[in-house]
Amino acid sequence: MSWEDNVRRVDPYVPGEQPKDTEKVIKLNTNEMPYPPSPKVEEAMRQFDVASLRLYPAADVAPLRDALADRYGFDHDEVFVGVGSDDVLATAFLTFFYSDKPVIFPDITYSFYDVWAEVYRIPYETKPLDDDFHMVKSDYMCENGGIVIANPNAPTGVSEMDDIRFIEDIVSANPRSVVIVDEAYVDFGGISALPLVRKYDNVLVVRTFSKSRAFAGMRIGFAVGNRKLIKYLNDVKYSINSYTMNRPAIELGIASLSDEEYFNETVGKIVATRQWAQKELRDRGFRVTDSATNFLFASPGKKSAKEMFEKLRERKIYVRWWDKPRLRDWLRISIGTDEEMKALIREIDELI
Ligand code: PMP
Repeated sequence: MSWEDNVRRVDPYVPGEQPKDTEKVIKLNTNEMPYPPSPKVEEAMRQFDVASLRLYPAADVAPLRDALADRYGFDHDEVFVGVGSDDVLATAFLTFFYSDKPVIFPDITYSFYDVWAEVYRIPYETKPLDDDFHMVKSDYMCENGGIVIANPNAPTGVSEMDDIRFIEDIVSANPRSVVIVDEAYVDFGGISALPLVRKYDNVLVVRTFSKSRAFAGMRIGFAVGNRKLIKYLNDVKYSINSYTMNRPAIELGIASLSDEEYFNETVGKIVATRQWAQKELRDRGFRVTDSATNFLFASPGKKSAKEMFEKLRERKIYVRWWDKPRLRDWLRISIGTDEEMKALIREIDELI
């Protein structure tokens, strides 16, 4: 008998590789924004009162929740905030998935969902996406302990947007479960489930500042849902760590929300670059899904995806590849600047 018999063991989530800041690479592997945050954020950082760091931040994160509530047309108590959407999602798994029945999500989706299920000992079951990487709606009309949907999905980039009622039908058919809709990428395309929050008390929409607001390093995520959902989330959060959001994050998050013009401009640039890169890859024989995100999911066709991933890495271009069933023929390529994407296409031309 050893203390190791009592360890909560888990295979952790593996994030994309982060090269040292000094290393010069074209980094297209973790869906970060290639442009900086709004100049208003830089200004707020300069004005930040360092002396205020001696004081705890507002435990209820009221100033940032108010700014989010204003921006999206909800009330303060319909908004929850966390340290990136990973923190929000982890708290939501712990709060809402407490049943003997399995939580369900697609077989190909954000690879953190099964890790949270494992660490919290939540039973789960995956449902296969169809051959075009779309969800099969009827798979989600069964007994379950909760549902998680990334829309648009990762790493496929596919959005369930052909049918506006797709998510609503799943939410309305499952009044006994909480349906989490992870909208990490929705600002780049796709249709948001936010309007469903007014109609259904069992849908929680989760968003992040990491991608469209260029805030991956600042760590801000949020959720919008019925007051009761938000109250239960806060009860769990206050039972683990009351002060999750630090003072700079709260202030800079508010500054980011104050510049929607810059937000729209940078998101628009990513969408234009994505359309260009998607066509260039298709012209070279790649199979590329219709992405509604800031990345492309592309299969090189004749060449092996693994080999292309390795060769690009040798040439200091980082993309993402997974050695997993249904994924190993594909690369996930984050959208960088026009120059970065041109450099990627040039290297691909040499490789093929
Ligand atoms: N959801 C999805 C689908 C993602 O791809 C990511 C990014 N890895 C996240 C949530 C978490 O992002 P963050 O914690 O930076 O908000």
